Amino acid sequence: MATRDLQGVLDAIGSATDLPIVVFDLDSTLFLARSRNLRILQDFAEYGCGRYPDLPEFAASLTVADLGYMVDHPLSQRGLLTDGLKTELRAFWAERFFTDDYCEHDQPTPGAPEFAQACHEAGALIYYLTGRHISGMALGTTTALVKQGFPLFRGRTVLHLKPTFEMPDGAFKKQAVADIHSYGGSVVATFENEPGHADTLRQAFPEGVHFLLDTVHSPTAPEPHPEIVHIPDFRL
Ligand SMILES: [Mg+2]
Repeated sequence: MATRDLQGVLDAIGSATDLPIVVFDLDSTLFLARSRNLRILQDFAEYGCGRYPDLPEFAASLTVADLGYMVDHPLSQRGLLTDGLKTELRAFWAERFFTDDYCEHDQPTPGAPEFAQACHEAGALIYYLTGRHISGMALGTTTALVKQGFPLFRGRTVLHLKPTFEMPDGAFKKQAVADIHSYGGSVVATFENEPGHADTLRQAFPEGVHFLLDTVHSPTAPEPHPEIVHIPDFRL
């Protein structure tokens, strides 16, 4: 690859001599999972407003940028998070975050639909690899991908979801490596927000360039490998 950046990925796809493959994670990579957290927090504020009268106004003032990995991040930042509120909000969140109804409205990371389209048009197989589970999130995921203009249902696209909710994401992504190899192509690039998953892909596909979205990641994530390229979003 000429340059280890997004334009370099498109150039490498265009000059590939075998099937070029680009692997994209979804949550906090192509989609802003924080936008789902924002909706859940605002819905909770409406639902719990009797007990937390200041919450609706505070929640309504927030933007996606105020949200973090955990749904209660803006409340703890403001010193508004009590133990009772935290327990109730996290239970409300857990019932909604991993559902079709909520992931359907996710906002894309800036430039993500256009970049995925450009990769597809240049000839790449687009491989969406996500820890979302089939039985609860397949419908919302496909709806959001199509609605936001990501390539799907037109050939040379794969949407690989977790078979069960309970399966750990790390084990799932390690297993998916065999499927990606089975196409017999070359992985040009992978995109992740979790340093651990990015490193799984880096080790499995040393021919590619591996990108890490500087969005949010698990608080227990390892240090990213130094070869991994950091990007803020998908704008060229
Ligand atoms: Mg992710």
